[in-house]
Amino acid sequence: MFIGHFAVAYILIALFPAVPPLVILFGVSFPDLLWPVLVLTGKEKVSVSPDNPLQNAIGFTSYPFSHSLVTGTLIAAVPGLAVAYLVNPFAGVVFVGASASHWFLDVVTHIRDLPVLGIGGSDVKVGLGLWNYPRQAFVLELFFYVVVTVLVVQPAMVIPLLALGLAFHLINANSFLGLSKNNPFTARQYAVAALFGFLLFIGGAAWIFAGM
Ligand SMILES: [Zn+2]
Repeated sequence: MFIGHFAVAYILIALFPAVPPLVILFGVSFPDLLWPVLVLTGKEKVSVSPDNPLQNAIGFTSYPFSHSLVTGTLIAAVPGLAVAYLVNPFAGVVFVGASASHWFLDVVTHIRDLPVLGIGGSDVKVGLGLWNYPRQAFVLELFFYVVVTVLVVQPAMVIPLLALGLAFHLINANSFLGLSKNNPFTARQYAVAALFGFLLFIGGAAWIFAGM
């Protein structure tokens, strides 16, 4: 999931106006910022199918640190402590909560590959598998983003944030709609694309929240 995470960020930004939007934008993205780093350094494993670009064909073989509920949230507490120190303690708590929200949203789309504990013996993996219905997933994630944005964001920011979300969702469209026969990415390129995708979206949204 990509733009759906930012819809949750907008809800948290509306709920907690005293917390800088950038803290929340980084919070909801944190697992997908950590994940590429761990993939590129070989700590977590992903495989892509060269002849299938769809997201349910991505093998999230192992990501016990970035995408587990328990371990991932504990790791998020490290930058959370930095936020608590640099901004204020409440902002640190919101950062960690935003990061945990990422896992719960990913549960909706992922194919039973999300670990609960992360590290530890026989871990339970969950995922409701919306990605098995890629066209519906494409529409539902956009619908969720649009509805939340219209409902919770200040009127002046609605159009720019809708444009930002739509642009990134369309960039991501091939992974839902299978427009190309082959997967244009290797596993490492996919990780790099995720990292830059999230960073660019955070930058764009932060710029809009700062009043452009
Ligand atoms: Zn994720």
